[in-house]
Amino acid sequence: MLDVIGIGIGPFNLSLAALIEPTPLRARFLEKCEGFCWHPGLALPNSRLQVSPLKDCVTLVDPTSPYSFLNYLARHGRLYSFVNKRNASTSRREFTDYYRWVARRLGTLRFAEEVVDVAPFSDGYRVNTTTTTYLARAVVIGVGVEPKIPECARALIGNTVYHAADYLERNPPYVGEHVLVVGGGQSGAEIVEHMFNRPLATRITWVTSRTNLFAMDDNSFVNEAYMPGYSRRFHALPLQQRRAIVEHEKLTSDGISAELCNRLYDMLYERSVEGTLVDSFRLLSSVVLKDITSHNKRWRVDLNGITTQRDHSIIVDRIVLATGFQPRTPPFLQTLLGGARMEDGLPVLGPDYAVRFDQHMPGPVFLQNQSRLQHGLQSVNLSLVAYRNSLIINSLLGQSFYLDTSDRQILDSYDNSDTSELGALDVMPSTQHMAAIT
Ligand SMILES: Cc1cc2nc3c(=O)[nH]c(=O)nc-3n(C[C@H](O)[C@H](O)[C@H](O)COP(=O)(O)OP(=O)(O)OC[C@H]3O[C@@H](n4cnc5c(N)ncnc54)[C@H](O)[C@@H]3O)c2cc1C
Repeated sequence: MLDVIGIGIGPFNLSLAALIEPTPLRARFLEKCEGFCWHPGLALPNSRLQVSPLKDCVTLVDPTSPYSFLNYLARHGRLYSFVNKRNASTSRREFTDYYRWVARRLGTLRFAEEVVDVAPFSDGYRVNTTTTTYLARAVVIGVGVEPKIPECARALIGNTVYHAADYLERNPPYVGEHVLVVGGGQSGAEIVEHMFNRPLATRITWVTSRTNLFAMDDNSFVNEAYMPGYSRRFHALPLQQRRAIVEHEKLTSDGISAELCNRLYDMLYERSVEGTLVDSFRLLSSVVLKDITSHNKRWRVDLNGITTQRDHSIIVDRIVLATGFQPRTPPFLQTLLGGARMEDGLPVLGPDYAVRFDQHMPGPVFLQNQSRLQHGLQSVNLSLVAYRNSLIINSLLGQSFYLDTSDRQILDSYDNSDTSELGALDVMPSTQHMAAIT
């Protein structure tokens, strides 16, 4: 009988495994893939980690842990050169290598074991995998996200119609191909840049339902939304307010990195100088994909202008769907969460990420990466991964093994007693904003 089983080993449960190691908890983590991987189909040479590498598996909760990114750098003889280089960010490729290094050092991980069923019994959960059965007092679901594919493309997925998640796993476009990229977020932008940098001439049409290509807003003030105090306050707000905040703050998480936006614009400018832009690239904004049909071994794509309400068709050879990701909900999870209290189609979670059930359950079920409406946008990215897992561990142990390392936020740092009559939670702009939305 284990204390806890983690299902899925992506960055979220990997961090949990690293932080559990020094605790008395007996744990096992199960992953269906042969080894650790992190969105491999999008590991493009220019892809950067979009947060500080100090938001690694452990540092913000336990800076002394041996599983920190800084320790990884030191062990690989790159600590001084990392500090010496002009910017303190890292590539997704290097961060994946860091994650793999952590995974190799932990004894609790099991790869090539897919979980197919989780059944409650008197003392906990029976977790069946493709090879064996485990018993555990609690489970932490970390099965991550899966590609979101528009309805009209579902039956057509293959070598020339595919989601961005499979981009590097498909053959690259041939000379002269006309490629349609659907989606104006980070993945779409990274793919367009990658295709531009290839020596072969490809025609690209890029469509987005947004009114333009918007950069991610990650200035230090708005980034306070990715701190523990903000998340705690967000969780306590009524649903209507949380919905409005998530919508309002979307671009703090879903935009294109400003650096990449500017690089793309420079590339297009150079093509316009060469005189090759018109034949090689077209960006259509405020446009939605309506239908795809086969057309003489090519694809006819029907598009609709959101503001004009006009239809337009184009013929392309290949379609890359950079249409985002959604929470993965395998059948066993749907069954397990059958009795969960729901809110906007997602299970209600407590402050410690434990699912709230209407019926008695034999032990806690924690859920990672499915609570953007419950805990805020931080819950679907790496910003608070270590903090979230420290809450789960403290909850499993019933005591504060990890102390709350969240410091006072800069914008929250003066006495607010004389402003309490405003009715806001306090004077932090983000919470004023929360109040303004109500
Ligand atoms: C391309 C991309 C880039 C991103 N870059 C950033 C970034 O720079 N910064 C940031 O903060 N956030 C980023 N994110 C958001 C977020 O951090 C990632 O999606 C992250 O991978 C989420 O981690 P996870 O562990 O929840 O899920 P995942 O990484 O999806 O891992 C889930 C794992 O569960 C396994 N699994 C699924 N079902 C089962 C089963 N039944 N049994 C066993 N194993 C199973 C899967 O094989 C997978 O390995 C990015 C997201 C994407 C898609």
